[in-house]
Amino acid sequence: MSTSRGSETADSTDDDTSQAPHARRSKVWEHYEQELVVVKGDLKAVCKYCRAQLHTKFGTSSLRTYIAEACRPIEDACRKRFELTMEKRPSEGMLVFDEKVSRELMIKFCIHAEIPFLKFEDPHLQPWIDSLQPTFQIKGRHMIHDDAMKMYKGMKKDIEVELQNLDYCICLTSDMWTSS
Ligand SMILES: [Zn+2]
Repeated sequence: MSTSRGSETADSTDDDTSQAPHARRSKVWEHYEQELVVVKGDLKAVCKYCRAQLHTKFGTSSLRTYIAEACRPIEDACRKRFELTMEKRPSEGMLVFDEKVSRELMIKFCIHAEIPFLKFEDPHLQPWIDSLQPTFQIKGRHMIHDDAMKMYKGMKKDIEVELQNLDYCICLTSDMWTSS
């Protein structure tokens, strides 16, 4: 019944440290206008609250700092919420972890929701579980939908910024074929 998780999880956690900051990075775009502006050849993001224009050249870290520390008109509650997304959660100390209970609950969910066993080898599962604590509540499919759309928009924006900051042209060619 005892398990050695070390060797199993080591690989996947290594792979996925690169994924975690990516998802978090995109959150900041909720606080900037959808459209970037070009100022003297530089692409800039416009703050939704004070209209400040910020460089996007060096990624989103300055955009995050601005929302967390500098922007004045942003509501306190809104800033707080954003800061929470940036922080690593302190361990609560309240939860008594019992691996046996967790594994039973996992199997209950797996069977009730008809999740294929193979899904438990998905490299993104363990990082998600690692991030959880008891106050994390899943509020139905609408929450999943909204979060997925937010992530999609954020990542799309990141790619736009990345592409627009390149000094190259991109040519996309598509090939059409028919089968008969
Ligand atoms: Zn602002």
